[in-house]
Amino acid sequence: MGAKVLIVTRTFGRYSQEPLNFLSRNGFEILRSENLEPSFLKEVDALIVGTNPVTAEMIESSNLKIIAKHGVGVDNIDLEAATKKGIPVTITLGANSQAVAELTIAFIFALARKLMIAHEKLFKNRKWEGVVGYEVGGKTLGVIGFGAIGREVAKRAVCLGMRVLVYDPYASKETIEAHSAQSVDLETLLKESDFVSIHAPLTEETRNMIGEREISLMKKSAFLINTSRGGLLDEDALVKALKEGRIAGAALDVFQEEPLPEDSPFFDCPNLITTAHIGAHTVEAIYRMNMMAAQAIVDYFNKKIPKHVVNREVVEMLKKMGFEE
Ligand code: NAD
Repeated sequence: MGAKVLIVTRTFGRYSQEPLNFLSRNGFEILRSENLEPSFLKEVDALIVGTNPVTAEMIESSNLKIIAKHGVGVDNIDLEAATKKGIPVTITLGANSQAVAELTIAFIFALARKLMIAHEKLFKNRKWEGVVGYEVGGKTLGVIGFGAIGREVAKRAVCLGMRVLVYDPYASKETIEAHSAQSVDLETLLKESDFVSIHAPLTEETRNMIGEREISLMKKSAFLINTSRGGLLDEDALVKALKEGRIAGAALDVFQEEPLPEDSPFFDCPNLITTAHIGAHTVEAIYRMNMMAAQAIVDYFNKKIPKHVVNREVVEMLKKMGFEE
């Protein structure tokens, strides 16, 4: 038997057999698990992982050669430990940008037209009552983080007739302007936007970047959307702001603790839409993520440098070991 791949992501191969067949055709033995136990990583050569934590301890005691993240946010993987062991960590860059951007746009419409409230009134309460919302055209969208997803959101918002403001200290003014958006500082974005949408990665720099002070800068009529990572947002501050009507509403796909605990204060919040981290959950995005993760592993074992390695130091190590680009 060939190398062993452990898959710890429920959606791998669920909507198409092709990603599993692709690994089998290339001689891999496939193992699956719902949980990630450190002992499993001693028995396998490669790991395909979604959001389960892959700690330094797990990596150090493992026999892993490659970790393929099924997604793009690598905050659950200890990159330093992987780099120390010369383990490349790949991501499925761009595979889910469209899916997350479309969910963000869906949130914008749902918040603006109060769709959840309208549905509840008629469907649950059997009350034929009007609900008055707002139009999205002509409003201002603030995009925090102008990477693959932020740009896809901006493109769609511009088509809807929205003015788009961007805060991203690492994106050039030219790139932002090329998307018909305007580069601004965070304070301006928060003060001027009708919708604020977070698309930055979770890092030590971005943790809790939207807290009480930032929310207090937003308009009372504005909405906050987070499809990035729960850790970017001070959740207590948001709960307080929603309960006190400091902002008009929010939509969250991601939380500091996932699954969201049953006693979460979010369940008592008005004007809040929640989804269970489904940003990348479209059949199309799942297929792309499946295939890109599988391809990274096949490439590695064919001594080719896989695409989208995030710990770039390892690429140099692989080159020295004779891996082809
Ligand atoms: P990306 O790396 O392409 O873009 C991230 C952008 O954030 C970059 O342009 C970067 O310069 C910017 N950034 C970094 N630090 C910043 C800061 N302090 N302030 C403002 N901007 C900053 O990543 P992406 O593909 O656009 O994904 C963004 C995030 O979305 C991921 O890190 C991930 O956490 C999250 N995500 C969530 C889902 C979901 O299912 N809800 C799916 C995919 C990705």
